Amino acid sequence: MKYALVTGGSRGIGRACVQKLYKMGYEVLINYVSNEAATQEALASIDGHGQLMRFDVGDAEAVKNVIGAWQEAHPDDYIEVLVNNAGIRRDSLLIWMDSADWYKVLNTNLNGWYNVTSAVLQPMLLHKFGRIINMASLSGLKGLPGQTNYSAAKGGMIAATKSLAQEVARKKVTVNAVAPGFVKTDMVEGLDEATLKKDIPAARFGEPEEVAALVGFLASAEASYINGEVISINGGLYT
Ligand code: NAP
Repeated sequence: MKYALVTGGSRGIGRACVQKLYKMGYEVLINYVSNEAATQEALASIDGHGQLMRFDVGDAEAVKNVIGAWQEAHPDDYIEVLVNNAGIRRDSLLIWMDSADWYKVLNTNLNGWYNVTSAVLQPMLLHKFGRIINMASLSGLKGLPGQTNYSAAKGGMIAATKSLAQEVARKKVTVNAVAPGFVKTDMVEGLDEATLKKDIPAARFGEPEEVAALVGFLASAEASYINGEVISINGGLYT
């Protein structure tokens, strides 16, 4: 059995990644923080052949305990693919931004990356194979007004991707980031799609499955020589 962990696997892009990795033959560990109903739907969408892993990625102790308990219960296995997908946004202009919104976004989107990655890295190195795929964003490359917190977190994740890739490449572990533009999920609910798509060369928002297809490729053996990269997937909006 080969295992993949998708953080924030209950909904949106994460759920599409769960489905893609399942089709690639992985037993998928579906992480979520609170939405039981959506997580059950995600599990049902892969015919129940997955495991649920509830924890807040921003809670270092919880991450360590849950992943540690899984590893203890599976001493001969390891998580060979990690998709660091869990993320939130709390947008406002910096001048109006509450410190709580700054810290919450940084803690979930960037400290969460550290918490989960450090919990699964050692077994990947020992087994001399691993794939870490980080869900960044256009906002982390280009910056977007109203998203200083989110841009800082995603930009930090991109920089960490490049550093870690160089640390672990010799052990045949690759670390890459995917930077989506606008993708149709709960996260973009409330955005004015009709206006925003006028600026997108492809003239539409992306589908979660399109992002998952890229994640699946980066997880595959064929992608062995791609390391430390950030791949945009945004309909031509920004390269
Ligand atoms: P979404 O539909 O809002 O889903 C968010 C997922 O993250 C849910 O599974 C949620 O779990 C989980 N999550 C949130 N906080 C968490 C925490 N503290 N610990 C564990 N899980 C947590 O979002 P999405 O649009 O699919 O976004 C997925 C990733 O893509 C995010 O990192 C986002 O920043 C990035 N992204 C999205 C877009 C876009 O246009 N949609 C563009 C660029 C980048 P529950 O179901 O339990 O709440």
